[in-house]
Amino acid sequence: MNERAGQSLWSATAPPLEPFAALREALQAQVAVIGAGYTGLSAALHLSEAGRDVVVLDALGVGDGASGRNGGQVIPGLKYDPDTLEEMGGKHWGPRWVATVADGPDLVFELIRRHGIECEALRSGWLQLATSQSTLAPIEARVRQWQARGAAVERLSEAEAARLTGTQRYVGGLLDRRGGTVQPLAYVRGLAAAARRAGVRIFTHSAAINLKRSGEDWLIRTPAGSVACRQVVLATNAYSDQFVEPLQRTIVAVPSMQVSTVRLPPELSRTILPERQAVSDTWRLLRYFRLDAQCRLIMGSRGVFGDVPPARAAKLHYRAVREIYPQLAGIAFEHHWSGFVAMTPDHLPHLHETAPGIVAGLGYNGRGVAMATMMGKLLARRLLGEQAEELGFPVTPMRPMALHRFSRLAAGAAIQYLRALDGLTRMRERIRRR
Ligand SMILES: Cc1cc2nc3c(=O)[nH]c(=O)nc-3n(C[C@H](O)[C@H](O)[C@H](O)COP(=O)(O)OP(=O)(O)OC[C@H]3O[C@@H](n4cnc5c(N)ncnc54)[C@H](O)[C@@H]3O)c2cc1C
Repeated sequence: MNERAGQSLWSATAPPLEPFAALREALQAQVAVIGAGYTGLSAALHLSEAGRDVVVLDALGVGDGASGRNGGQVIPGLKYDPDTLEEMGGKHWGPRWVATVADGPDLVFELIRRHGIECEALRSGWLQLATSQSTLAPIEARVRQWQARGAAVERLSEAEAARLTGTQRYVGGLLDRRGGTVQPLAYVRGLAAAARRAGVRIFTHSAAINLKRSGEDWLIRTPAGSVACRQVVLATNAYSDQFVEPLQRTIVAVPSMQVSTVRLPPELSRTILPERQAVSDTWRLLRYFRLDAQCRLIMGSRGVFGDVPPARAAKLHYRAVREIYPQLAGIAFEHHWSGFVAMTPDHLPHLHETAPGIVAGLGYNGRGVAMATMMGKLLARRLLGEQAEELGFPVTPMRPMALHRFSRLAAGAAIQYLRALDGLTRMRERIRRR
C-alpha cells in the first residue's frame, strides 16, 4: 500500500496560494473576521464588496480547518426535509428558511464563476442512496417535498441508482441536480485569493487570543499584534477554541475521515460514477463518496475518537470501498486524512449575535460547503444592517451545552454503537445473500 499518510488528496492536488504573513502590528479595520474557511472568507468577500475595510485572522493557514479537508460535496439543503423545516420554523420563518438554505449551491457555483476560481467545480448533482427499503421511504418523501417547491430533484429506481454508481448495493434514492462537487481546498484558496483582490487583509498563523472592549471598538490580540475594529465575525466552527469559550460549547466537534485510491483505470472509471455525482448513503454512520477530476475514488465516513492510529482507522474505510465496489478489490490507496465536523444538538446551523457588533455562524452538521458559504454571506448582510427578517434566517442567542466536556465522550460512544449496528446489519445481509 503506497500511502502518503497525513497529507490529504486535496493538499497534494490543489493549486498553490501565494502565502499570507502573520500579523505583527497593531491594525485598525472596520471588521475583523476570525477564521479563514468558507464562512470567514465568504463573509470577508461580501463585506469587502460592500465597501467595508476587513481583516481576516486565522490561527493556522487558509483552509487548514474543515474547509480544506472535506469531501467537496456541494449538498443542497439541511438534514431536515423542507416540510419539517417549515413546521419547525412556523408559517412565517419556515418558507424563508427553506428558500435561504436551498440557495446555497447556487451561491457556491456563482462565486466560483464570478471570481474565476479553478477548483474542478462540477454541477453534476448529488445522489442520496438508500441501503434498504425502510430508508428509501423517507427519501421518496423528500423528493416529493422538493418537487412541490420546483426543485430539480428526481427519484431513482434501483436500476438507475446502479447505473449512476456502478454498484448494486443500493435499492434506489434521489438525484438532486442542484448539487455537485468541488476540490474543497482549491475552492477555499480561491475565495482567499478573491478576498485579497477585493482588498481584504488576511493574516495566517495569527490566532486571536483575546477579545475585549476598548471604547467604541473591539480589540483583538494575537500573539504578535492586534486589531481594533467596530465589528467582529466569528467563523471558527468545529475548530472554535477558548477564544470565545461559550461558542465552543454550542457544538460538538466530531471527527470525519476520508481515504482516496490511486487513479482508477479507464475500464473501471467508465462504469463507477460515470456522470461524476457526489454520493451519500443512509447507513446510520453514513458513507459519502465521489471521484475527483483524475478519477480517484474518495470514500468518507465518521472517524474515530481517541488515540487510534490513523492508518488503523483508515482500514474501516478501505473495507467500505471493497463492500460497495467489489470490482476495486486490490486497488491501492494513496491518502487518508481527517478533520472535525461541528454538530449541534438540534442538527441546525446557527447565526448568533454574541455581543453588540459580534456575530457568529456555525454548526453545519457535515453540510458546510454550501451552507458555510451561504452563512458567510448572511453574516456580512447582518453586519451591514439587515434584520433577520430580510436575511431569511433566524438570529438566535447562543445556548452553550451544560456538561459539554462529556459531549465528546458521548459522541464517541454513540459512533461506536452505530458502527456496531451497521456492521451487524451488513453481516445479516451478507448471510442472506449467500
Ligand atoms: C472530513 C470532512 C468531510 C466533510 N465533507 C463535507 C462535504 O462533502 N460536504 C459538505 O457540505 N460539508 C462537508 N464537511 C463540512 C464542511 O467542511 C464544514 O462545514 C465547513 O468547511 C465549515 O467551514 P468554516 O469556514 O465554518 O470552518 P473551518 O473551515 O473549519 O474554518 C475555521 C477556521 O477557524 C480557525 N480558528 C479557530 N480558532 C481560531 C482563533 N482563535 N483565531 C484564529 N483562527 C481560528 C481555524 O484555524 C480554521 O481555519 C466535511 C467536514 C469534514 C471535517
